[in-house]
Amino acid sequence: MAKTAIITGAARGLGNAMALKLGELGFDVVLNYRSESSKSLSDDLAKEISDNYGVKTLVVRADVSKYEDCEALVQASVAEFGDTIDVLVNNAGITNNANFIDITKEQYTAVIETNLISLLHMCHLALPYMVDRDTCIVNMASIGGLVGVANQVDYCAAKSGVIGLSRALAVEFASRKVRVNSIAPGMIMTDMLKGVNQDEVAALATAIPLGRIGDVSDIAGCMAYIVTAPYLTGQTISPNGGFVMP
Ligand code: NAP
Repeated sequence: MAKTAIITGAARGLGNAMALKLGELGFDVVLNYRSESSKSLSDDLAKEISDNYGVKTLVVRADVSKYEDCEALVQASVAEFGDTIDVLVNNAGITNNANFIDITKEQYTAVIETNLISLLHMCHLALPYMVDRDTCIVNMASIGGLVGVANQVDYCAAKSGVIGLSRALAVEFASRKVRVNSIAPGMIMTDMLKGVNQDEVAALATAIPLGRIGDVSDIAGCMAYIVTAPYLTGQTISPNGGFVMP
C-alpha cells in the first residue's frame, strides 16, 4: 500500500533535497511551501519527484506558524492520500542573525513561531493519523540547539525547544508506534547560510574537522536513515563535519 509523507518548507534548500529523498524511498509526498515565489519551484519539484520515482505528489501552500494553515495542510493530505500519514518532516525555518538588543519583538516572535510553535501545530494535527502504525516524525533542529551562537538567541531557543519537544513526543508516543527524532545540522550551503556574512562563514569553515561546509545531500541521507531505522527514537543526530561534538 502506498505510504504518505508530509514535508514543510519543501521548495528550497534542505526541504527540496529531503522531499526528493522521500520520493526515492517510495513515499507519496505532500510538499508544503509558504511564499508565492516558491510556488513554481514546488510545482517543478513535484513533477521531478513524480517523473523520477513514479510516486504521487501534492503541493500545498501553508504558513506553518499558523494553526489554521497547518490544519488545512494536514486535511489536504488526508483528502488526497487518505487518513494515514506515515512520515512527517518538520523542516520549515527562518533565522534573523540579529544582535539581541537591536532585534525587535516581531522578529524574535516570528522565529519562535516558525521554528518551534509550528512543530507543536503540525505534530498535534498529524499525530491522530500516525498512531499505532509504525510511523515517524523528523524535526529539523540545528547545532544552534546544542550550543550557544552569537546573534542567534531566538534561533537557539527555538532549536533547543525542537530537541526537547522531540524527546518528549518520543517518550509519549513510543507505545503508540510513532518514532520521533531530530536532526541538528551544522553549516549547510543553502539560501539560509548564503544570507549571513560570508567572511564569517569562511572563517568558521576552517574550524570544521572534515574541512568543508555541508551539502544538502548530507542531511537528506541522514533523514533517510532516520526514516528507515526502526529502533531509533528520541535521538538528535548532528551531521556537522565534526564542528560540534556534544
Ligand atoms: P532555506 O533555504 O532558507 O529554506 C527554508 C524553507 O522554509 C523555505 O522553503 C521556506 O519557504 C520555508 N519556510 C519558512 N517559513 C515558513 C513558514 N512559516 N511556513 C512554511 N514554510 C516556511 O533554509 P534551509 O537551510 O533549507 O533550512 C531548512 C531547515 O534547516 C530550517 O529549519 C533551518 O533552521 C534548518 N537548518 C539549516 C542549516 C543550514 O546551515 N542551512 C543549519 C541548521 C539547521 P518559502 O520559500 O516558501 O518561504
